[in-house]
Amino acid sequence: MAMADMRPPIESGCPDGFQYMHPTMRRNFGLWKYHTDPKPGVLRHVAESGEEIFTVKVGTQRILDIFSLRELTSIGDEFADGYIRFTIRSNVEYYVTDESKVDPLIEAVEKLGYVVGGTKNSVAAMSHTQGWLHCDIPGTDASGVVKSMMDELIGEFKAWNMPNRVHITTSCCQINCGGQGDIAINIQHTKPPKIDHAQVSNVCERPSVVARCPVAAIRPAMVDGKPSLEVDEKKCICCGACYP
Ligand code: SF4
Ligand code: SF4
Repeated sequence: MAMADMRPPIESGCPDGFQYMHPTMRRNFGLWKYHTDPKPGVLRHVAESGEEIFTVKVGTQRILDIFSLRELTSIGDEFADGYIRFTIRSNVEYYVTDESKVDPLIEAVEKLGYVVGGTKNSVAAMSHTQGWLHCDIPGTDASGVVKSMMDELIGEFKAWNMPNRVHITTSCCQINCGGQGDIAINIQHTKPPKIDHAQVSNVCERPSVVARCPVAAIRPAMVDGKPSLEVDEKKCICCGACYP
């Protein structure tokens, strides 16, 4: 078949990020000369062309509701030419070309309870894996641990006290599907599963449960004449994969 006759691929990946970039960033992409750190949470980038742009980094609660998103985007409309960017650690970044708008922007976000920081030698916003939302393994809700830890560390997010930037993560099981950082806090179950033999044959997909165990610690068994399961507690690593 000639190339011209072939069906073009359907591009279903992430969209081209350039279309969402602030025009100053787009114009100077790859042409930045240096940057300075005027204050915690604020970066100033200067391009070869002489253009400069200020980035204001704002910590959020990560799981954002529509009302918070409207607030944050309205601030982007008012102070940052309508541009906003979410970072992998759930910060919001605003890009400001007019230096006189930096402090009013900070005032506006702080008035709503958000925090500005996470740059240079601070403790960056903590990230977590998302077990409680979509995964069936979690030993706990990693985001709850993030919330309680960031309540303690909020001062370090806003300051420059660390020897270098510190990235902390929490994960809700040892698989640690998305928690890459300098300090990783992994939370996991501590006990092997207990089998309710009266219920198993009614509610449990036994072959699936057995197949999920990474160390073959759980296996089919007949108990009181009924199909059930048994656990070799010496082998069990308490991963939680069979709990659902
Ligand atoms: S860390 Fe484990 S439990 Fe949490 S989302 Fe990832 S795989 Fe699931
Ligand atoms: S908790 Fe994990 S290791 Fe233990 S029996 Fe269940 S799947 Fe196997």
